[in-house]
Amino acid sequence: MENSDDFMAKIVALCKRRGFIFQSSEMYGGINGFWDYGPIGVALKRAVEQTWWKYMVEDRDNVEGLDSTIICHPMVWQASGHLANFADEMTDCTVCKKRFRVDQMDDPTTCPACGAKAMTPPRNFNLMMKTFVGPVFDEEHAAYLRAETCQPIFVDFNTIRIASRQKLPFGIAQTGKSFRNEINPRNFTFRSREFTQMEMEFFCHEDESMKWFDYWHEQRWNFYTKILGIAEDKLRIHWHDKLAHYAKKALDIEFLYPFGWNEVEGVHHRGTWDMSQHAAYSKQEQDCRYFDQERNATYYPTVVESSCGLDRICLLLICNAYDEDTAATQKEGMDEDARVVLHFAPRIAPVQVAVLPLSKKLEEPATDLFRKIRGSFRAQYDVTGSIGKRYRRQDEIGTPFCVTFDFDSLNDNAVTVRDRDAMTQERVTVAELAQWLRNKIDK
Ligand code: ATP
Repeated sequence: MENSDDFMAKIVALCKRRGFIFQSSEMYGGINGFWDYGPIGVALKRAVEQTWWKYMVEDRDNVEGLDSTIICHPMVWQASGHLANFADEMTDCTVCKKRFRVDQMDDPTTCPACGAKAMTPPRNFNLMMKTFVGPVFDEEHAAYLRAETCQPIFVDFNTIRIASRQKLPFGIAQTGKSFRNEINPRNFTFRSREFTQMEMEFFCHEDESMKWFDYWHEQRWNFYTKILGIAEDKLRIHWHDKLAHYAKKALDIEFLYPFGWNEVEGVHHRGTWDMSQHAAYSKQEQDCRYFDQERNATYYPTVVESSCGLDRICLLLICNAYDEDTAATQKEGMDEDARVVLHFAPRIAPVQVAVLPLSKKLEEPATDLFRKIRGSFRAQYDVTGSIGKRYRRQDEIGTPFCVTFDFDSLNDNAVTVRDRDAMTQERVTVAELAQWLRNKIDK
């Protein structure tokens, strides 16, 4: 078994080579903790986000969507406790000058890098990113980039409830950028300073909150195992034993990344903390409480949250899909050659179908077919290089189906579809192709 650093080096190299993910501002030496998604990466990211949105919002009657601003009124972050408490305890090594998170050290008195017993006393570093709104750069105009996407959901709760005519229990979901001044960005995109979250806050009565917690626990587990197709033994639940003072239950869904078990999502019972905090700071009680007609009572909704990182899911999918095996080749003197292949589930594959004319002479009918296909699937057209090379290129970005248009196609109106995983080839008529692909991709 190769070591995890070597494996991650391969993933990082592939991601850059094939246009998944690479360092932001590379020509200036990069900027630590910031990553750009190239053409294939953005296709993967959007596919996962859309899959999440469909599963969490569009397919449900009791979850509404939101797209709020990144910068909110600074009081939002006072009320949420982020300005006072959203900090990591850090300690510096006075010998090698490296900085570490105390909660991630086995022994906070010894430097994990150089072994010196010369650590500074722990200090708190706030993770909020600060900026200024308007022409004057002083404290009065200070504002913060959101550190999580859920706070605007709490603030907009009542407006959304009225507009959508929802009654408790119901949820509000949003996806979008969050920013944290992480002290030690690392493990590729796993810990970034700018990242995308996908969060859903479910508002309910306290008496039913445990039932909803169990429900969302199950739903979110199913998202990874059934929708994204991750094997159960690569996922696990980590129950929090130290809970926030307001929380009743909390768990992380963890994935076995090459660098170990790590959190991809949190499911949290947040009690009435969020809504009561915003009531106290905004003095707008009526926007934070709910009148329950059936119970004939007014109360702060209890919140059950599902919170995951889109970048962590994309990284998980790439690591999970990566494989090296052998495939038939036409290279001289060889029957088989090594190939790198990403076994993405067809539903989230960045490119679902590649159309490959066998010869440049077939470009016209092949392009016609490609134009038809691209309206229904994420598709790519490739005419350059031998067919073997083109298969290898598609394998590396995880394209599940390659459609080859050959000279026979002109007569029999059929194409050869090559399956990435089984490496089998099947003749399918052009008339049936879209439905054939649809059946395989929606499976
Ligand atoms: P960690 O303990 O790993 O710092 P957290 O418990 O602070 O994470 P939450 O505040 O619960 O994370 O955020 C919810 C989700 O947002 C996480 O499960 C993760 O997927 C994602 N996330 C949080 N911080 C980052 C980051 N720095 N880079 C990428 N994704 C992140």
